[in-house]
Amino acid sequence: MKCKACGALNDAGASFCKGCGIKLEASECYQCGAPADPDALFCSKCGSKLTSNDPVEGKTCQSCGFVNSAGTMYCQRCNQKIL
Ligand SMILES: [Zn+2]
Ligand SMILES: [Zn+2]
Ligand SMILES: [Zn+2]
Repeated sequence: MKCKACGALNDAGASFCKGCGIKLEASECYQCGAPADPDALFCSKCGSKLTSNDPVEGKTCQSCGFVNSAGTMYCQRCNQKIL
């Protein structure tokens, strides 16, 4: 993996950069567990998207707090109009 600080190319699975010594953020695919480059967007093994912290796209109902999918006009739980 490539060090974000100095750009040195380290072995996959290396914990510290051989160029500057900082700790390398090990990341792995949460689907298949394959080691992944921190800069990679998709797993090279299974093709899963590697960002695990996708922002939840949705609209929160102001009446009941249920998170509806984006584009929903009426709450799927309480049927109130979502602003
Ligand atoms: Zn480095
Ligand atoms: Zn994977
Ligand atoms: Zn609701």
